[in-house]
Amino acid sequence: MTGTPGVGKSTLIDSFGCNLTAAGHRVAVLAVDPSSTRTGGSILGDKTRMVHLSQDANAFIRPSPTAGTLGGVAARTREAMLLCEAAGFDVIIVETVGIGQSETTVADMVDVFVALMLPGAGDELQGLKKGVLEIADIIAVNKAEGSNRERAGAAAAEYSAALKILTPHPDGWTVPVLLVSGLANEGLDELWQTIERFRSDHEASGAFSAKRAEQAVRWFHALLDMEVAARLFQKEADQKALKDMEKKVHVGDIAPDRAVDILLARIGL
Ligand code: GDP
Repeated sequence: MTGTPGVGKSTLIDSFGCNLTAAGHRVAVLAVDPSSTRTGGSILGDKTRMVHLSQDANAFIRPSPTAGTLGGVAARTREAMLLCEAAGFDVIIVETVGIGQSETTVADMVDVFVALMLPGAGDELQGLKKGVLEIADIIAVNKAEGSNRERAGAAAAEYSAALKILTPHPDGWTVPVLLVSGLANEGLDELWQTIERFRSDHEASGAFSAKRAEQAVRWFHALLDMEVAARLFQKEADQKALKDMEKKVHVGDIAPDRAVDILLARIGL
């Protein structure tokens, strides 16, 4: 589940999660927060953001890991997802913010990618949001209660129109645009039903397991890249050479491609 700060993610996940535990599900919420890897602080980290769900015995909430790269955070989150699954959590919500690469990273580790949008911000079709529309499986326009409903409906119509001109979903799925309100707990049953329909449609066509298989292969390559890079420069002298080369590239003394050749030659590759 993604959305810019303020779109209402924590409020929605709080209500949505409680609806699910009331229906007998066990719900885990894992945050992937790109800001935490740079600053150690985090937008999503605060447990108190979900006051009801955090007190629910059938829910588990984990803030984002705050150290390392986005790849490292993704690795920890994948491990946590497996643990949660093994521990009997049947619904795992991975929450992220629309910053940098975090959305694509998260889209690549989940079965269904839900994008939360704000109603009537007037920028529905701006480039910033095009990227997320392209990877979303379900769009939910949030805060669509009471007097906001009309504006939210207009925004939903614009998103639907924009989706028609984007590259269609590869498996023939028409991306639904829902109206929801986390605060008023409205439209959240429909959101869950839509997620279940996504799953049953994709299971029936084989796309569900195909997606998991492709994700596993992409993750294998990403892990391999990370591990190879980390292990190649384990020796202190090689690490120093790496840092020295970084400085040379930084001041323009050497071209990046030449720097790679020299460094790899140094470690015998
Ligand atoms: P997050 O940063 O995406 O986690 O957003 P929050 O859940 O913290 O919500 C940001 C602000 O929007 C808060 O002041 C909430 O009270 C408000 N908010 C959240 N959900 C709704 C909603 O469904 N309707 C309305 N009107 N306000 C909401």
